[in-house]
Amino acid sequence: MVSSIKNFYSFFLIKIDVIILISTMTILEGAQELDSNVSPTFPLSKKGLNIVIQFSFVLVLIGRIPLMENDQAFIPIPQTYLDIIEKDKDHKCPPPMDHFCVKVTSAAKLPSRFGNFIAIGFHQTSDDKEHAAFVKGDVVNKENVLVRLHSECLTGDTIGSLRCDCRDQLEGALRKIEDEGEGIVLYLRQEGRGIGLTNKLKAYALQDQGMDTVDANLALGFEDDLRDYHLAGHILKSLRVKSVRLLTNNPKKLLELQKWQINTTERVKHIFPENPFNIQYLETKKKRSGHLLDPEMTADELLHQKH
Ligand SMILES: [Zn+2]
Ligand SMILES: [Zn+2]
Repeated sequence: MVSSIKNFYSFFLIKIDVIILISTMTILEGAQELDSNVSPTFPLSKKGLNIVIQFSFVLVLIGRIPLMENDQAFIPIPQTYLDIIEKDKDHKCPPPMDHFCVKVTSAAKLPSRFGNFIAIGFHQTSDDKEHAAFVKGDVVNKENVLVRLHSECLTGDTIGSLRCDCRDQLEGALRKIEDEGEGIVLYLRQEGRGIGLTNKLKAYALQDQGMDTVDANLALGFEDDLRDYHLAGHILKSLRVKSVRLLTNNPKKLLELQKWQINTTERVKHIFPENPFNIQYLETKKKRSGHLLDPEMTADELLHQKH
């Protein structure tokens, strides 16, 4: 219903364009005829003026086409997601998995600068945290779904910090999924590798004094990486995804998904150029956190590497 109203609105806009252009053409032509008897106000001939007006008309139409296409491309949210939301109302994982239990709560259209996505909300009952999946297409019961597991990074994702590569990775994943026409970016609310925003900033302060990312976390009394991909496994299971093509350089993610019987059929490289501020961060990731940034490594090699 809403989309048919929008289509009518787009059609109506084109009619307005036509009326404006025809009116303009008539007025200008009338003015030119009047002027030809007095003095040549318009430098163009009548024929030239007509060509300009017709060209403008084509430009206006071209300008309207993306509006219509964009509108029509936003298909209704697949019924499969609505069914999952309905079924998940009473969902509860038994202990010990209750700690990672999430419910699918909502699905809404999300037009974005990277394309039209469906935003799916998740509620983690154990700690009231909220997570989201930004999905393209209907991934329910699908094999080989392109997936990126992204952990929240306020400084990188929102502010564009150059201390890490989070924003590049997030935007890169959204663009790739848009290009392929199907996939998921799971946005997990585990800021600062799970230590939280203010602790991450404390770790940054220690890094400013020369520590690397791992030592800074250890100095604050945290493990190197507290991120939890159990949660990601549950979310993909909730969406009934059967197997994934994972955009990652991190073998830990593959291992965690395996525990939820979600196979990674392909590891898709996800590497972005470094900058002077994150060279050290990327080196530490590679040497101390087991992220092998080798673009050619397969899922199998990542799963079985020694680190
Ligand atoms: Zn559960
Ligand atoms: Zn970051």
